[in-house]
Amino acid sequence: MKCAQCWKPTTLCLCEQLHPVASRLRVLVLQHPQEARNPRSTARLVSLVLPNTVHRVGLSWRSLAAALGELATPSEWGILYVGQAKEAERLAKDQAVHVLSKKKKLKDLKGVVVLDGNWKQSKTLWWRNPWMQRLHRMILTLPEKKSRFVARQPRKSCICTLEAVSEILKAYQDKPATYGELDRSFDIFVERLQAPRGVPVVACTEPMPLSEVPRESV
Ligand SMILES: [Zn+2]
Repeated sequence: MKCAQCWKPTTLCLCEQLHPVASRLRVLVLQHPQEARNPRSTARLVSLVLPNTVHRVGLSWRSLAAALGELATPSEWGILYVGQAKEAERLAKDQAVHVLSKKKKLKDLKGVVVLDGNWKQSKTLWWRNPWMQRLHRMILTLPEKKSRFVARQPRKSCICTLEAVSEILKAYQDKPATYGELDRSFDIFVERLQAPRGVPVVACTEPMPLSEVPRESV
């Protein structure tokens, strides 16, 4: 039995404990259909906590505006990748989020697209939506000590969608209450997953190596 709102089995549903808050930065989560069936996915939680979020499940959309369901200018939007630690070494370590464009700073962005799925699924989404290449690529370079990731992630730099969005909102200087609420809902969700016997397992978006990012954008 699944909850109609969060799409999770009723044993994992935490809808009653969620308190929606408005974020200044728009978020567009594009989720691979296979990931949408994963009960451990955190994408749905993001859209329930942040009503500004648009959550779409599918493989391709005509344009950013078509995916968002409203007019949007690609040059005002970023798209998130999670870089490999080695590649991230050349970027400033005191910053968690980088926009890989000399012309654009994080504060200039109106919204961010987050691809939700494992590495292969994210890559499929990327190649099936050529308009994504017109967005500003963003990369997370979280130091390991800051990580709140839970056990069984395939790689150290692996990050779940909710945590990625939380980090972007922090870097974007959104209100602490906004990302604080995201973090709180994540804690509750991890607690649910832990019960009854052990190691929490959270679905994650695997890192997209920087080598996959077209050169001209770096
Ligand atoms: Zn629910």
